Amino acid sequence: MTASTLAPMPAATIRRSPAELIAAGHRSYSFEFFPPKSAQGEQSLWSALRRVEALNPAFVSVTYGAGGSSRERTAALTGRIAEDTTLRPVAHLTAVGHSKAQLRTIIGRYADAGIRDVLALRGDPPGDPQGPWIPHPSGLNHAAELVELIRECGNFSIGVAAFPERHPRSPDWDSDIRHFVAKCRAGADYAITQMFFRAEDYLRLRDRLSATGCDTPVIPEIMPATRYDQIGRFTRLSNASVPDDLVMRLRTAQHDPCESHRIGVDHATELAQRLIDEGAPGLHYITLNNSSAAMDIHRGLRLPTPSDHRHTEETPG
Ligand code: FAD
Repeated sequence: MTASTLAPMPAATIRRSPAELIAAGHRSYSFEFFPPKSAQGEQSLWSALRRVEALNPAFVSVTYGAGGSSRERTAALTGRIAEDTTLRPVAHLTAVGHSKAQLRTIIGRYADAGIRDVLALRGDPPGDPQGPWIPHPSGLNHAAELVELIRECGNFSIGVAAFPERHPRSPDWDSDIRHFVAKCRAGADYAITQMFFRAEDYLRLRDRLSATGCDTPVIPEIMPATRYDQIGRFTRLSNASVPDDLVMRLRTAQHDPCESHRIGVDHATELAQRLIDEGAPGLHYITLNNSSAAMDIHRGLRLPTPSDHRHTEETPG
């Protein structure tokens, strides 16, 4: 099949939650956006969203800022996506700086806006993501507690974060995996990974989880590295290590935007293809509100048809 459409799934499955879609033998392809700050940013976001909408993704997600007005914009944008498009929006939510009562109010606002999907995150200290974690005095300490709180608030589909290179604050793999499994047991339906650049990191995480008996689907996040000057930021914000050969190729092409774009897209396409061939349950593309690299990657993939799926189930449609 050509990769001109996103998911080889019948229309009847479009509105299923990511976990339901995966359980039915489909892959979940999705895109991540952030709430823009300016009118121009708003315009680019909406053209990117409309381009992505035409591909019929499983969902689009909207990030939650470290503080201030961007948090309001997450709720407003996610609500507008639910109302004005055919897309299924997933609202990110972090526990940073919120009391439990405030978190309940935000979750209630999401529900009122027709949002049934939340990505439950602990978040990082505002300003310095590596700085000391100071919980709100009446708030939460870890994402597992947020998953529980969302479960108490209603019938939501809940995602959580996973870390193929281990969470930077985890002292060792054992505790990292143990706390991830606790989030799943608290009620998470699926996970999305932090960005990473080597398939082996994802595959090792999957093996570690499967050794514990945890079968929560973990969707790999794909971040195309299309600019040399982005790399320091990736490392600082996400702790992702970028392979030396990719760094060198981007450095050589740093004054040639077309060549840099091609290098980043080619690397991400190869990674995404390997993950799909290894049976990953989908792909979550970071778009930075410009869908072109993500769409180039997706179009370059050889996607399995439903009959190729290992766990395919007949679906109506
Ligand atoms: P947790 O699961 O709470 O884990 C944090 C650390 O605490 C880990 O080391 C874990 O092992 C440890 N831990 C967990 N439970 C316990 C316990 N009971 N006792 C001791 N240690 C424990 N950030 C934003 O601000 N906005 C976003 O929109 C956003 N979106 C993201 C999307 C994805 C897909 C990912 C992967 C990350 C995103 N982040 C976002 C970043 C995320 O908030 C940070 O990576 C944060 O540091 C970890 O969040 P978490 O939900 O994994 O936390």
